[in-house]
Amino acid sequence: MLKLDFHPAGRHFLQIPGPSPVPDRILRAISYPTIDHRGPEFGALGLRVLSDIKKIFKTEQPVVIYPASGTGAWEAALTNTLSPGDTVLMYETGHFATLWKKMAEALGLKPEFLGLPGIEGWRHGVRADLIEERLRKDAQHTIKAVCVVHNETSTGVTSDIAAVRKAIDAAGHPALLLVDTISGLASADYRHDDWGVDVTISGSQKGLMLPPGISFNAVSKKAIAASKTAKLPKAFWGWDEIIEMNATGYWPYTPNTNLLYGLSEALDMILGEGLDNVFARHQRLAAACRAAVNAWGLEVQCADPAVYSPVLTGVMTPAGFDADAIRKLIYENFNMSLGTGLGKMKGGMFRIGHLGEANELSLMATLSGCEMGLKLAGVPLKGSGVAAAMDYLTSQKRKPALKVA
Ligand SMILES: *Cc1c(COP(=O)(O)O)cnc(C)c1O
Repeated sequence: MLKLDFHPAGRHFLQIPGPSPVPDRILRAISYPTIDHRGPEFGALGLRVLSDIKKIFKTEQPVVIYPASGTGAWEAALTNTLSPGDTVLMYETGHFATLWKKMAEALGLKPEFLGLPGIEGWRHGVRADLIEERLRKDAQHTIKAVCVVHNETSTGVTSDIAAVRKAIDAAGHPALLLVDTISGLASADYRHDDWGVDVTISGSQKGLMLPPGISFNAVSKKAIAASKTAKLPKAFWGWDEIIEMNATGYWPYTPNTNLLYGLSEALDMILGEGLDNVFARHQRLAAACRAAVNAWGLEVQCADPAVYSPVLTGVMTPAGFDADAIRKLIYENFNMSLGTGLGKMKGGMFRIGHLGEANELSLMATLSGCEMGLKLAGVPLKGSGVAAAMDYLTSQKRKPALKVA
């Protein structure tokens, strides 16, 4: 029998940008006994999570919850709204945008891929002006949907979704707007209704602090109308039956009961802290992380300060230093996992996750592990990133008022 005795002392630092560490509170909630998914207690749980998850997406419309990873929810968004051969305008921000485009092709859609050439597109957010220009040329309205990634997890670059909505409206184009915020939700500000998004896709294992295994489609009235005539085959992913049964807190099949306990706990935690506080905490930690990267004299992957990700920071390694070899050194010496470079960035960068339950001291430990690993790898560093991050975080805290006796 395999003996599980390979765990080093102390806790493992899971600093990849998803799955993020699952707080003990959530793990405990998940360990409650599984109940009858047709029984009365389950209905109450279902209604609770279906109602409060809307606050996270900032929507009044239905949010569909699937027992699937984020990739399943990508497929659900496409198959519910589109028909075989439909042209979709997708935007290349990085590896996840590229995977979504491959899926569109596999489903029989015709994706057009917009973006800046080379790795430039992987260092900037979506250029809404390019989307507007393309839509203006589509006088016949053959483009049925615009698909963008809100927080590109492969690079640490966000995109301005409100600007994309404006671009679609400015072009007077009826295309649906589909947005992947699998890694952005509950870490970066997101507004499904205000930004006029038709389908928002998200997942459980990033900002929501849950294990992998559930994912979401937040929908609009326009998306639901499109689903009535969309012809891509769908059965398991079909919204209709799920939304109908969700009215009483149930699903047409067996939902992920224990992960829904976890979701209920996560909602308590996030709404208890307050979404604005959660977003501010992520911005603060991300700024401290970038201060460290700058002090090391390394480059942040995101080249546009207006769209730095609050979820993760991509760190480019200097020529001659393989980022994956550095990650391996850190893993073996300091029991910490960092994100690998994906696609075009393989070997040229690593990614530091600072999402979900991250706080000042978890970030400082993470940066210490990175700094020690960079030194072990012989990467020439300009200065101490750890010291710079501490200075930044200290500057963000208010000193208590001195009491004069
Ligand atoms: C994680 C992630 C995905 C894929 O989700 P899975 O849960 O791995 O299927 C897709 N898009 C983005 C932006 C992600 O961060």
